[in-house]
Amino acid sequence: MITRIINAKEGLDDAVSLIKNGELVVFPTETVYGLGANAYDAAAVKKIFEAKGRPQDNPLIVHISRVEEVREIARDIPEVFYTLAERFMPGALTVVLPRSERIPDIVTAGGDTVAVRMPDNAFARELIARSFPLAAPSANRSKHVSPTSAKHVYDDLKGKVPLILDGGECGVGIESTVLDLTSGSPVILRPGAVTAEMLAPYLGVAPGSGKVIGTAKSPGMKYEHYAPTAEAYAALSAESAAAFYDRCAAEGRRPVLLFRDIHADVLGERERISLGVSVEDFMHSVYSALRTAEKDHDVIVVETLTGEGRAASVMNRVMKAVGGKTV
Ligand code: AMP
Ligand code: MG
Repeated sequence: MITRIINAKEGLDDAVSLIKNGELVVFPTETVYGLGANAYDAAAVKKIFEAKGRPQDNPLIVHISRVEEVREIARDIPEVFYTLAERFMPGALTVVLPRSERIPDIVTAGGDTVAVRMPDNAFARELIARSFPLAAPSANRSKHVSPTSAKHVYDDLKGKVPLILDGGECGVGIESTVLDLTSGSPVILRPGAVTAEMLAPYLGVAPGSGKVIGTAKSPGMKYEHYAPTAEAYAALSAESAAAFYDRCAAEGRRPVLLFRDIHADVLGERERISLGVSVEDFMHSVYSALRTAEKDHDVIVVETLTGEGRAASVMNRVMKAVGGKTV
């Protein structure tokens, strides 16, 4: 199969007809690129799992373009969903709700719930509006780092999908927050750019009470996602990263440091890929930096962010990428 990359605006009509014909389309969102298929078409959805090599027990998010569309894919929707939708949709928040019978088993991995999200990207929403409902996971090969550009997707899925809509770089840079509203009290299954602190006031719990953050995990979190192909570590400090870098270099290995510019003085002339300045810069660029790093290096050392909120969300992904290894 030939994989075409087309500017998102120009490729939209083609994308809609492909989805209607049971094919896959890659589309940009503000979090990461998505690999979409008609959520009502089980055979089309199966192609997503095949293209990615994704385990069948990991359910997909169903995407909406308007809040009202949720009624077609979910049932018994609690009032708080609409409160959250007003504040956070479109945006990087996925909400788990009781599933409508119209959604085939393959989308939900046989479960009684469905994950729903409205992306904050005009091309994505137009595609969804014209081919609703769209089931889509991240558009990477399973277990690899999620893609934040059309080129990343091409590197992973070339020959496996007919069309990639190119909408430039994703702004947020990590996957959405997954919030489960089906289990008594709301619980975050996957942390993201929409944090517990931001959600708490809308869920009627005190910010910082820890009530929204459960120990539960979304099915996908048990897999070693996000891993780059090179050996990777999180650095306990810039100093420890520098020392480790020097040891690796002395052994003839090719290390690289993924750090924000605030550590430039400590890291000196050592080879570094910048993660910008702020926590948001780090979130935006870390997946892309991991993909660049794995191409020319055999050891990757990533800065550790401390603190709650978005810093903790990014570190959730970094610790997965490095398999929990620190230096
Ligand atoms: P991805 O879009 O590749 O980031 O994957 C979607 C994430 O949402 C995975 O971690 C899934 O396990 C999770 N997810 C999808 N549907 C559900 C659901 N019904 N309940 C809980 N988690 C879900
Ligand atoms: Mg994924």
